[in-house]
Amino acid sequence: MKFFRLALHWQIFIALILAVLVGIFADSATTLFGLSLTSIFNFIGTLFLNALKMLIVPLIMSSIIVGMMEIQPDTLGRLGYKTLIYYAASSLVAILIGLMVVNLFQPGIADGEPVRELVGLSAETDDVVQSVEGKGTGDLAEVFIRMIPPNIVSAAAEGKMLGLIFFSLLFGFFVSRVKGKPGDTLKNFWNGLLDVMMQMTEWVMMFAPVGVFALVAKVLMTSGMDAFRPLAVFFFTVLIALGIHLLLVMPSVLRFIARVRPAAHFRAMMPALLTAFSTSSSSATLPITIDCVERRAGVSNRVSGFTLPLGATVNMDGTALYECVAAMFIAQAYGLSLDFTTQFTIVLIALLTSIGVAGIPSASLVAITIILAAIGLPAEAIGMILVVDRVLDMCRTAVNVFSDSVAAVTIARLEGEETNLTMKN
Ligand code: ASP
Repeated sequence: MKFFRLALHWQIFIALILAVLVGIFADSATTLFGLSLTSIFNFIGTLFLNALKMLIVPLIMSSIIVGMMEIQPDTLGRLGYKTLIYYAASSLVAILIGLMVVNLFQPGIADGEPVRELVGLSAETDDVVQSVEGKGTGDLAEVFIRMIPPNIVSAAAEGKMLGLIFFSLLFGFFVSRVKGKPGDTLKNFWNGLLDVMMQMTEWVMMFAPVGVFALVAKVLMTSGMDAFRPLAVFFFTVLIALGIHLLLVMPSVLRFIARVRPAAHFRAMMPALLTAFSTSSSSATLPITIDCVERRAGVSNRVSGFTLPLGATVNMDGTALYECVAAMFIAQAYGLSLDFTTQFTIVLIALLTSIGVAGIPSASLVAITIILAAIGLPAEAIGMILVVDRVLDMCRTAVNVFSDSVAAVTIARLEGEETNLTMKN
């Protein structure tokens, strides 16, 4: 699809307009060459979703393992601990902001009713809800039991991702301790695998316009334009939550902990923010982030060289926040009772998977299917947010990159560095 030479978000946008046109002129009774149009779109949409799901296990495993491998035990001195604490804390704060905002706006509920039919979630939703509630995610101890899988292979096969994530975190940590040739071989292998998985993900995403077209057209043909309203509410819920984190929390960290002028820092980071926004990829933006943080903000290479590459893979505030809001939105749309344990599970997995998500476009979608599986919802529901995902991806990637830069500056200041933008009083 490269031959269109049009940025992916434009292609998706055009696909969306075409889907709306189809939705206006066709309905669920329309046929093409004797085949029902909805079943054709269903077929195409399912192919696309399956392709995304197929990436989950190897992508998440290699991404977490590579991220953990970089945390060398010998560099894990004071600098390392400060960085890790910052990354965990800022992601958690972002998730909690998302949780608060999504509970406030409840995008998955319209006029007091779950929006599942409106947005075209499958007819078997009642079964889904019953099976989830029957299974009782209500038991907090269960969440931890599931975290340690008795059999890693069956955990992967059955999509029990929490166990797989825990295993990968441990595995990556211990890979970093293997010395000499075996250590190098292991590192090369996992780096290579991650590289392949990232390329495969980008390749699958080239089909996003077709997938979006099919999925959206199907929904509009069956439920009409009303489907857009909940999506619009979801869209703005995510933007508001990201806005609070970017414009309130991050500047406060800069001002009160790093003692750096927030407006000046924003200005210094502008090239990186714009690149993140247009590429939707923290990894692709990394060289520019390093340049801005070192040359424009004046952070030493010792600090930025450690915090930024690590941050581009493990510190994703925007992504963590988005995963939480999206999973909550889908759960609300299904009419699930969102008790404390379910919300706790969502927060926990959003935190863990945001570490595991690769810094490439749409990587969150993979993580969201993991959360959905953990709370017992079908991965198909992801089709619902695909429509607005690309633009939100651009925004959350900018937040991801900004948070990495704030980490670098804050840690440099805590290490006693005078940066270019330090406040005078
Ligand atoms: N695109 C994001 C990034 O590269 C990851 C995601 O949330 O999909 O930071």
